[in-house]
Amino acid sequence: MEEKINGTTKTCAADTWEARDVAHIWHPAAQMKDYEELPPIVVDRAKGVWLYDVYGKKYLDVISSWWCNLFGHCNPIVNDAVKAQLDKLEHVIFANFSHEPAIRLAEALAEIVPKGLTKFHFNDNGSSAVEAALKMAFQYHVQTGAPKRKKFMCLSEGYHGETIGALSVGSMDLYAKLYRPMLMESIHIEAPDCYRCPYGKNRGCCACECFEHAEKAFADHAEETAAIIVEPLLQGSAGMRVYPELYLQKLRKLCDETGVLLIADEIATGFGRTGEMFACIRAGISPDLMTVSKGLTAGYLPMSVTCTTDAIYDAFYADWNEGKAFVHSHTFAGNPLACAAALAVQHIFRTQPIMPNAAVNAKWLTKRMEDELLPHPNVGEIRHIGLIHAFELVADKQTKTPLDAKKRTGYEVYRRALKRGLLLRPIGDVLYFNPPLNITQAELETALSLAKSALLDVLPM
Ligand code: PLP
Repeated sequence: MEEKINGTTKTCAADTWEARDVAHIWHPAAQMKDYEELPPIVVDRAKGVWLYDVYGKKYLDVISSWWCNLFGHCNPIVNDAVKAQLDKLEHVIFANFSHEPAIRLAEALAEIVPKGLTKFHFNDNGSSAVEAALKMAFQYHVQTGAPKRKKFMCLSEGYHGETIGALSVGSMDLYAKLYRPMLMESIHIEAPDCYRCPYGKNRGCCACECFEHAEKAFADHAEETAAIIVEPLLQGSAGMRVYPELYLQKLRKLCDETGVLLIADEIATGFGRTGEMFACIRAGISPDLMTVSKGLTAGYLPMSVTCTTDAIYDAFYADWNEGKAFVHSHTFAGNPLACAAALAVQHIFRTQPIMPNAAVNAKWLTKRMEDELLPHPNVGEIRHIGLIHAFELVADKQTKTPLDAKKRTGYEVYRRALKRGLLLRPIGDVLYFNPPLNITQAELETALSLAKSALLDVLPM
């Protein structure tokens, strides 16, 4: 294997970290053959927005390491909280046992989640939280006299994780197509597509005409449906597709009218990513179930929570012999170290002007990105919500014709960005910034300049 580092070619001898990695590790979401040409970047340490590899080369992590890292790497407050917890209690069974960090975290969450969510079920990753939400919705109906409600609705291009249940309510072929024979049959509703609006409307100036697809699906299937699951306001894995608050408001109303439960998957959007603490709050709605992970622990430790209402919780509350308990567990549920990290996150939100600063920087970044990238003939659109900013590469700006996917242009831009010291992971031909909320304008400026150079390396003007 060969890799150019700081201009010089480095051969991966058998004893390098890279060679030892690929000898045994099967990386996530990867064609491992790609690693022949682009060996793994072996990270040694990190601070703030910067990752440092074992050769001392640094990379600006503008994607928050898969959208998790809320306040920069090795944040001193979160570090101290986890270290202090480590000397007290590292893990304990969470069935019939509890501990102070979990109790205090549940109280802290109760204060910030959308109104009406009062009960918190702990899990250990995003997909598990989604599985728990689906099972809770199903069981709720069984135990409240509507056992015919067995199906789930979801939006096209939606993503909710990669376990079998979560894939069943995901609509992205990339992840789900091959496994369809193994999945449960869900009702897939055509999602809003504001960039290529089929109704010819412009982003932000519509009456959500596309909601007619949801109305039709509800008219046909509401009676057999337990719940609909959506990524509120932002379909992240679909390519950072931002859609209007009105869509969610209409959906909440339709769910109320039909008894279908609304599951908001805020795993990507939660904790300030959309400019409010939760996307549902931004849209002025409350879901019946809500899943959170990623930013929950600022990306420090794997943890997720499925939040729900008293009404749902009460449907499970009975004598043991009635068989109504939610018999669902994950070994690391409520891990004290993860809870300590999550409590530190809440402390930072309460004591530092994170959200107002991020709002100022978001506005500034929109302008800077539009100035720097939009003039490029292959940048079709810049879409944004909160600090998340994405640009979509197209073959023709006027017709919005996509690039030939087989050319993997986004992946090439990613590779060039890495060479220049920027971690800018692509979703197809969509590239995005989803940085820590406390990133500075100077750091964003550096990221923008590196991204522009990488783009020009691949698609010169
Ligand atoms: N739901 C959404 C909206 C996500 O973005 C993700 C991960 O990116 C998940 C669920 C799955 O979370 P995990 O990867 O922790 O299983």
